[in-house]
Amino acid sequence: MTAFSGRTALVTGAASGIGAACVEWLAKQGVARLLLVDLDGDKLDALDPGCECLRFAGDVADPKLWQRIGAASAGLDLAVLNAGVADSGTLVDFDFAQWRKVLSANLDGMALSLGCAMRGMRENGGAIVLTASVSGLKAEPGTAAYGASKAGVIQLAKVAAKEGAPLGIRVNAIAPGGVDTPIWDQVPMFRDFVQEQGGREAAISAMGKLATPLGRYARSDEIAAQIGFLLSDAAATITGTVLVSDGGYSL
Ligand code: NAD
Repeated sequence: MTAFSGRTALVTGAASGIGAACVEWLAKQGVARLLLVDLDGDKLDALDPGCECLRFAGDVADPKLWQRIGAASAGLDLAVLNAGVADSGTLVDFDFAQWRKVLSANLDGMALSLGCAMRGMRENGGAIVLTASVSGLKAEPGTAAYGASKAGVIQLAKVAAKEGAPLGIRVNAIAPGGVDTPIWDQVPMFRDFVQEQGGREAAISAMGKLATPLGRYARSDEIAAQIGFLLSDAAATITGTVLVSDGGYSL
C-alpha cells in the first residue's frame, strides 16, 4: 500500500515523454484508475499501465473533449496536466498561425484541463501539477510563443492554487529545462543542431553540456518523480509554487 493506492489520476499528454513517464510512475505507486488524454490515439492505446484505464483521444484545446471526460472525472484525486507542443520562431518573422497553434495547445488546453480537473476534485480535494517550462521564466530568442504560453501556465497554476485552497485542492507547476523527449524533434533549431552534431543523442548531450551548470538535460522519469513529489502528501503544504528543474540553466 502507498498513499496513492486506490486513487484516480488524470494525465494529459500521456502518450509520450514526461506524460508517459508519469503514467508509469503513478501505476507503480498503485493508483487504481487512470484517465489518459492525448492527441495520438494509437500511442495512447499502446500504453499498458496495468490498472483500470480510460483513454480519451483528442485535442486538449477542444471543449467537446472535456465534456466527454467530465462525468468520468468525478471523484478525481490527482492530475498531471502536461500536454504541450514546442516551436521556435523570431518575432520579426512572426507567424500568427504558429502562435495560435502553440497558445491553443499549451494555454487554452491547460485552462480547459484545469477547469475539468478542479470540478472533478471539488467534493474531496486533490492535487494537480501543471507542466510549464523554464522558458516561461527565462527569455531566449525564438521562444516568444512557447515562452508566453508557459508563463501563462505558471500564472494559471497560481490563480488555481488560490481558488483551489478552500476546496482542499493544491495546484503547483513544474518548470523543466531540457528533458530528453520527442518534443525536441518539432523544433526547427534542434533539427539543424542534430545535423551539425551528427545525431540526436549527440545533440541532446551537447545542449545539456552547453546550457546547464550540471552539464546535462533531465530524463523524463526524473521529471515524473518530481511531479510525483508535488502530488504526494510530502508536499501537503506546498501550493502555487513553480518547481524549477533545469540543471541550473536559469541561474
Ligand atoms: P512529448 O512530445 O514527448 O509529449 C507531449 C505529448 O502531448 C504528446 O504525446 C502529444 O501527442 C501530446 N499533445 C500535444 N498537443 C496536444 C493536444 N493539443 N492535445 C492532446 N495532446 C497533445 O513532449 P514532452 O517533452 O513529454 O512534453 C510534455 C510537456 O513538458 C509539454 O507541456 C512541454 O512543453 C513540457 N516541457 C518539455 C520540456 C522538454 O525539454 N522535453 C521542457 C520543458 C517543458
